[in-house]
Amino acid sequence: MQELYRKIPQVSKLIEDKSVRHFLSYFYMEEIKQEIEVVLKDIRSKIKSEFIVSLNYEDVVSMITNRLRIHDLYSLRRVINGTGTVLHTNLGRAVMSKNAIDNVVRVCKGYSNLEYDIEAGKRGSRYDHLEAMVSKIVGSESAVVVNNNAAATMLTVAAFSTNKEAVVSRGELVEIGGSFRIPEIIEASGAILKEVGTTNRTHLIDYERATSEKTGMYLKVHPSNYHIDGFIKNVTNKEIVELAKETKVITCEDLGSGAIIDFSRYNFYKENMVQESLKSGIDLVTFSGDKLLGGPQAGIIVGKKELIDRIKKHPLTRAFRVGKMTIAALEATLRDYLSHQTVVETTPTLRMLFENKEELRAKATKLTNRINEIDYFDSEVIPVNSTVGGGSLPLSIIESYGISIKSKDMSVNDLEKFLRKGKNPVIGLINENRYYLDVRTLLNGDDELIVKQLEEYKNE
Ligand SMILES: *Cc1c(COP(=O)(O)O)cnc(C)c1O
Repeated sequence: MQELYRKIPQVSKLIEDKSVRHFLSYFYMEEIKQEIEVVLKDIRSKIKSEFIVSLNYEDVVSMITNRLRIHDLYSLRRVINGTGTVLHTNLGRAVMSKNAIDNVVRVCKGYSNLEYDIEAGKRGSRYDHLEAMVSKIVGSESAVVVNNNAAATMLTVAAFSTNKEAVVSRGELVEIGGSFRIPEIIEASGAILKEVGTTNRTHLIDYERATSEKTGMYLKVHPSNYHIDGFIKNVTNKEIVELAKETKVITCEDLGSGAIIDFSRYNFYKENMVQESLKSGIDLVTFSGDKLLGGPQAGIIVGKKELIDRIKKHPLTRAFRVGKMTIAALEATLRDYLSHQTVVETTPTLRMLFENKEELRAKATKLTNRINEIDYFDSEVIPVNSTVGGGSLPLSIIESYGISIKSKDMSVNDLEKFLRKGKNPVIGLINENRYYLDVRTLLNGDDELIVKQLEEYKNE
C-alpha cells in the first residue's frame, strides 16, 4: 500500500504533462489543479480501500483528462430535458424564446436607459419599460413587474393588508411547492389570515360575515396544482367583486400560471386567463413570468392604476425589483403576444405544449433510428404522457411519444447515470425498469448531443 501511495504523481508534474496542458485553452490553471486534486484524492481513498492494487502514471493522466473532458466551465449549465415536463421547475422552467434571448444580449452589451428617460433627458423609472406592453396585452390599466409571483403576491398583500385581515377561502389555502404556502406568505407580509368557508364549499355569505373594519382585502388564489371534485362550491370573481363594491374592500387574485391565450382551444383544460380575471372586475391580478407565459422568471401585477401606483411606492417593491435582463427578456416575450400566430411559434413553451402527435412520432422515429445504428444500444418508439409542470394545468395529460433506450451491457440505472453525467447532461425517466426520453421537451440539436454521448460509450 505504501508502495502505491508513493506511485501517486506530484501535482506539479501532472500540470506539466502535455495532454493535461492541452486543457489550458479552456480552463484556468486553478481549475485544472482543482480537478487534479479531486482525482488524486479519489485514488488515495481507493488505495486505502484496496480497490486499486496497481497504479501507473498513464492511468492517472487519463483519469484526469477524462474528467476534464466532461468538466463544464460553469456550475449553471445547459441540460437536455427528456422528462416531457415542459415547465420543469428543477430544470429552469420556461425555455426562453430567441427574441427574448437576443434582446437580453442586445441590452446587456452596453449601457441602457434602464432608469433614464431619453425623451426628457433625466432620470426615469425601470417600471416604465414594461407597463405599457403588459397593459396592452392583458387589457389592464397599469402593471408592475417584480422578481417572481411569490414576491408579487407578498407585495400585494403587504401593500394593502399590513396589520389588517386578508380574507381567503379554506379551499384556496394552497401550497405550490418549494415553500410557497399561502398562509405563510400572508403572515410574512405582516397581514392576518382570515379563513372563510370550508375546504370544499365556500359561500359569498362567508366573505360577507368575515368583513369588518379590520378587513384589508379579499384574496382569491388559483389552486394551481390540485383539483377537488364532487360536493363543491366556489365563490366566483363576479360575486366577490359585487360584494367588494358594497364593502369597499380591495380584491386580488393570485392566478399562478397566468394564461394569456386560451388553452382550451388546444385541447387543454380551461385555464383562467389574466384578461378574464380583470374583466370580472378584480382590482389586482398576479401571475408568473416563467410558467404558461413562457418568459423569464418574474412576477407580474396588473390592475387598477391607483393601486399599482401605491404598490410602486412600497419599500418591498425596491427589495423585489427586477434587473435589466428580466425586463429585456419579458418585453420581447410579451411583444410576440401581439400576434397569436407568431407567439405559438416563437415561444418554446407554447410550441412544445401544442406540438402535435404526428410531429412527435416523426421526431421519435428519427432519433430511434439513429440510436439503433450505434452498436451498443437498442431503441424503440413508445407512447408516453407528458405533463405541463410548474403547477400548471395539473389535470391535462398530453399524449406524446418517447424513445426507450436499452444498453447491451449497462443496467438501466447505469445507463441513466451515463447519460446524466456526460458532457451534455441528459435528464431522462425510468419506469418499470425501462429508460426513456419523452421527445416533447427535446429541443433542436438535442438529438445530435444524445447520439454523440451514446457514441462516446464505445470509446471509453
Ligand atoms: C406558481 C405559483 C406561485 C409562485 O410563483 P413563482 O413565480 O414561482 O414565485 C404563486 N401562486 C400560485 C397560485 C402559483 O401557481
